[in-house]
Amino acid sequence: MKIAFIVSEATPYAKTGGLADVAGALPHVLSRQGADVKVFMPLYRDVRQKGIPLLKKADRLSLGEAGQGETFALWESLEGGASVYFIDKPALFDREGLYATSAGDYPDNGRRFAFFSRAALVALKALEFSPDVFHVHDWQASIALAYLKFACAGDPFFRNTRTLATIHNLAYQGLFDKSILAEIGLPETLFRMDELEFFGKVSFLKAGILYATAVSTVSHRYSLEIQTPEFGCGLDGLLRRRSAALTGILNGVDYAAWDPATDRCLPANYAPGKLQGKDVCKKALLAEFKLPADKPEMPLVGMVSRLAGQKGLDLILEAMGGLFSQGLRLVVLGAGDARIQQSLETAHRRFPSFFGLRIGFDETLARKIYAGSDMFLIPSRYEPCGLTQMYSLKYGTVPVVRATGGLDDSIREFDPAEGTGNGFKFADYTSEALSGAVKKAVRTFAQKPQWSKAVQNAMAGDFSWERSAQEYGLLYKSLIGR
Ligand code: ADP
Repeated sequence: MKIAFIVSEATPYAKTGGLADVAGALPHVLSRQGADVKVFMPLYRDVRQKGIPLLKKADRLSLGEAGQGETFALWESLEGGASVYFIDKPALFDREGLYATSAGDYPDNGRRFAFFSRAALVALKALEFSPDVFHVHDWQASIALAYLKFACAGDPFFRNTRTLATIHNLAYQGLFDKSILAEIGLPETLFRMDELEFFGKVSFLKAGILYATAVSTVSHRYSLEIQTPEFGCGLDGLLRRRSAALTGILNGVDYAAWDPATDRCLPANYAPGKLQGKDVCKKALLAEFKLPADKPEMPLVGMVSRLAGQKGLDLILEAMGGLFSQGLRLVVLGAGDARIQQSLETAHRRFPSFFGLRIGFDETLARKIYAGSDMFLIPSRYEPCGLTQMYSLKYGTVPVVRATGGLDDSIREFDPAEGTGNGFKFADYTSEALSGAVKKAVRTFAQKPQWSKAVQNAMAGDFSWERSAQEYGLLYKSLIGR
């Protein structure tokens, strides 16, 4: 089975969030399971600066017929693992960051990712790799399906290619002015409600939802949620129409990369039943955030998150005073929205001995937080899958989550009487509900045997990619038959 993965970020090359973790791990596991996978992503400045060895595969490929049109170069990673190819167009991708700077999104993102998507189709031909399944991820790659349908229609190279569009987050749709269609070489007739138009804009994500043979999301619950007006971001009607082709497959964890027994970023390693190292990590984390280490009986709550409206930081800010009076400390690592950042900084000045804050994207510190915290807070308004709860489980850090999307699918409420469950959940999106769940966790933390059981259950969970990759394998097979 030949699979082409078109995705805008992947570890270890470039990452802003969970999509990169998925694209870094899943192709590798699919390859191990026997698929022939090639991943295509842009050659960002970030990738160049990492110094990962790359091999030039083609110097000058062209978007147009017979060498006409804009050109790009193609590189292949020599890193090992899955085959990863880079679309090299310095004018579009040799820039700071992936999608945005602190001043906001790059204004030419439509052109950038349309170019990337179209170039990936050209690269496939140059590599003579005619895929059975062309698998696009999120809006940045979904527009490739418009090229496949309109620009490559009738091309025998793609005759047997079926397509899968995976929505990792429906709220990011890639919306651009009508003029983008002419700019990126797609017919202006696509500016219609039953094609790519979305409330006066052109939606790149709609190309994925409309034109893919099948559509998937990253948890079962989220695949149902996005068919409702509450979570559908205006696309719920269209998604309901495509519901027969819509599935949810939960993301997994690459335990070779995420394991407290081997994680080199931690001050001490540990494993189930041998948790002394976790105490060392907690002390070091308190010190790193300049929080007092005088009260080991006080739980330390961690959070690693993009600072975005989705992630529920408003609930934490609202509940904060009350949370600290329950006797806990909180550390947050995050980057993103400037207004959320300012509110957190204000709170940090107000509660300096309870609340540690670090603004930025820092993979090493993130791992230290997964390891050194007792609990991990994820109060998301919505969460397509969520990986941070899965990482915290592995690191023996008990998640307190809002019951939505993949958080609801992966966390079961801890029941002290039965000794079952791996976390604490709340349903309503309110600071009271959040405080209630935290209070339950804090009370359980004080009962050492109960807490040990919760930690044990958390660490025993298996969210490895193998099962999810098998589900993708079955889905791919079902497409090839269609
Ligand atoms: P999303 O993709 O919506 O951001 P996920 O939970 O799926 O949420 O994935 C988030 C990923 O990004 C995790 O690997 C998490 O550790 C990482 N991450 C988020 N914010 C930061 C940060 N500020 N520094 C380092 N890693 C971060």
